[in-house]
Amino acid sequence: MPDLAAALRTVPDFPQPGVAFKDLTPLLADPALFTALLDRLAAPWAEAGVTHVVGIDSRGFWFGPALAARLGAGFLPARKPGKLPVATTTASYALEYGRDALELQGQDLPDGARTLVHDDVIATGGTAAAACRLVESAGGVLAGLSFAIEIAALGGRRQLPEGVPVSVAIAS
Ligand code: AMP
Repeated sequence: MPDLAAALRTVPDFPQPGVAFKDLTPLLADPALFTALLDRLAAPWAEAGVTHVVGIDSRGFWFGPALAARLGAGFLPARKPGKLPVATTTASYALEYGRDALELQGQDLPDGARTLVHDDVIATGGTAAAACRLVESAGGVLAGLSFAIEIAALGGRRQLPEGVPVSVAIAS
């Protein structure tokens, strides 16, 4: 099994001083690493009955659609405001300075859809928690949350809905 953690590039002080940016692009660029990461992302959910994956703007679009295809699920993008032409649902969340929001075209998510929320990184957890609210307000059921990497020191899991399973593909 390729060493995914060794291939991850951590860039200090990007995009601002004090942030250790987790750059996953080396794992996208290498065919063997890309396949291994998708295998690792999909494995925990193989028997979970996931019908839809919701990927978070924008790096949740790198692996989310391929993950959905592996699970035999559909894919919906949760996008920043103003990007989806017929968005039905909005959830806002706090940033270090100010707020941001995600939108979903909830009409494309069937009622009761067993939905896996996916992003590349969970840091403080606010973004993923907003995506969970979107899914629930669109009538979906949260099957779980899937991340490539967790920055555990930031405690983001505490923001996530209680009792919903979480998977992290690369221990770091
Ligand atoms: P948060 O809401 O704090 O959990 O932030 C998660 C979102 O910000 C994800 O969409 C990530 O792509 C991005 N993000 C936050 N921190 C980092 C980091 N250190 N490296 C790469 N992406 C990050």
